[in-house]
Amino acid sequence: MDSAKDKHTGQIVDGEQLWLINPVDKEGYMCRGCKVLVNPVSFERGLKTRPHFREYQKDPHKFWCKIEGETELIRAAKSKSIQNEQGFPCSFPHTLELTDSRSKVEPEDEQLNPNESKSRSTSNSSSNSNNTSISKWIARTIRPIARTYINFPKDRDLPLTISGLEGSIYKDVIRKLSSQEVVIYTRQHLFYAPIAWAAPTKTTNSINIKLSYGYWLGGKLLQPYSVKIDITGWSQAKIAYVLEELEVARHDAMQAKNKNKFTKTKSWLFFIGQQSSHTPEEFVINDHRLICCLTTDAL
Ligand SMILES: [Zn+2]
Repeated sequence: MDSAKDKHTGQIVDGEQLWLINPVDKEGYMCRGCKVLVNPVSFERGLKTRPHFREYQKDPHKFWCKIEGETELIRAAKSKSIQNEQGFPCSFPHTLELTDSRSKVEPEDEQLNPNESKSRSTSNSSSNSNNTSISKWIARTIRPIARTYINFPKDRDLPLTISGLEGSIYKDVIRKLSSQEVVIYTRQHLFYAPIAWAAPTKTTNSINIKLSYGYWLGGKLLQPYSVKIDITGWSQAKIAYVLEELEVARHDAMQAKNKNKFTKTKSWLFFIGQQSSHTPEEFVINDHRLICCLTTDAL
């Protein structure tokens, strides 16, 4: 599982956020669906793998839990919309709220469809097993939003609103940067583009990431887009967290290319940033929750 629920705060936590937590509470996370305890794994830095959550054999998901089934649905969703008469069968984030990651949320991060809430609250009733439950939840970083965008390419009409950004559905809020030229974007979006293979550079006050889109001429990328993360005042842990994800993603993209030189797999940087008015190829970000880097062939 990519994410789980923090037992103490009720917030949904991406596996990657475990890079920021020290020490990780092995008993502190529950399945988003059925609330059994789940095991946080691979969160040590330097492993070049993404932290995630695993079912404990002694404490399996409840029979009615939908979370395991979501993997199957994600596979099916690559080629076609998975919406049916009852709506969308997976849970997904419908908005982004940047609150203190350790503060408690009330009463539940997940907002259940009102028609469903009754059956979900009597959670061991057998009627649940046939229910198509729709639950929307609040993302605390852009990562689960980017994952939803990647996982459900034919369902990008799902609702999504992010304060300050244009649009109210996934495909309008999220936008790919131009691959061929530097465009001045007059409206704010959650942008994405593939990262270049070169490692990011770091100065005292910034991390600088080159993208492989931008102004091309004669087969050469003359003016690449770049993202500058302003790390003024950041803790070492926060800086390490951002660099760790970039490194894992870069490593994954290079591995895929080494295995198959015709691969379509790339590592994509998703971000909400301010486009510089003097140098429009540069975007500036100052919050670690507004950036993530995921590897996929589906974009
Ligand atoms: Zn479960």
